[in-house]
Amino acid sequence: MPAAKTKNGFEPKICERCGLPFEWRKKWARDWANVKYCSQKCRG
Ligand SMILES: [Zn+2]
Repeated sequence: MPAAKTKNGFEPKICERCGLPFEWRKKWARDWANVKYCSQKCRG
């Protein structure tokens, strides 16, 4: 079994601002390809 995938079937990303890994969230389901930050705070 590959270990890279998460339980959601999406690989974690690294926040471009704080550098921390974050996992797929349901609220990003439609826009995951464009998500670069872990939170609204980092995004702002
Ligand atoms: Zn962040």
